[in-house]
Amino acid sequence: MTTPRPLVAGNWKMNGLVAALDELGALDAGLKASDPAPVCDVMICPPATLLAQAARRVKGPGSSILIGAQNCHREVSGAYTGDVSAEMLAEAGARAVIVGHSERRDKATYAETDEQVMEKAQACWRGGLSAIICIGETESQRRGGEALAVVSGQLLGSLPEGAKAENTVIAYEPVWAIGSGLTPTVDDVAEVHDLIRKLLVERMGNAGKRVRILYGGSVKPANARELMGVSNVNGALVGGASLKAADFLGIIAAYA
Ligand code: PEP
Repeated sequence: MTTPRPLVAGNWKMNGLVAALDELGALDAGLKASDPAPVCDVMICPPATLLAQAARRVKGPGSSILIGAQNCHREVSGAYTGDVSAEMLAEAGARAVIVGHSERRDKATYAETDEQVMEKAQACWRGGLSAIICIGETESQRRGGEALAVVSGQLLGSLPEGAKAENTVIAYEPVWAIGSGLTPTVDDVAEVHDLIRKLLVERMGNAGKRVRILYGGSVKPANARELMGVSNVNGALVGGASLKAADFLGIIAAYA
């Protein structure tokens, strides 16, 4: 099977003023100094306010950091106060957008549905961007033995027809592992990632073998190597530990 090149993506969420770009500079310098160089793609998804500046900051010679966004609207433009389209994000320098993060699917906040996530993924492609589609079960769903059914339902409900390995990344993020310091066992991660791979191949044929499936939820330098070794884990989506260059570099080092 063709093994996809791993992706380690950092989601800064609603964190970071201009001064935070110094961490991006430190990350860039750290990557350039890494010997051996990590065998993975590296992405930072800052808040939308920093996107253009972040993209300029990593444009220099030898820089390999990709910039991504954290959300987009389904439409190109229009009367959607406060929203940002994929085309706008692309113009600002984004290469990908995280869609359907559990913080946006959460019923108590934005309550995004699979259908809305699918529309956003289509908007990403329309704008020439990759979609990083997040899926994952809550703690009560896992306890109730529903994790595999929930993940399958979200994947099939959020992944548009016509997905390609080049424009689609799936991030499995158990909601209960995000920001909690808890992680599933490697066997549990393998079970879910193997299922996602199977569903991708059923939907996309051989191209489904090349889609990157990231694990997200309390990834740290201390557990990155173990998680990256799990079957069908092709990288990580990292929240808290992406805010400091030293921590993020510690995770990326697992891919050297
Ligand atoms: C996330 O929010 O996508 C995430 C994985 O967060 P953390 O790494 O902090 O658990």
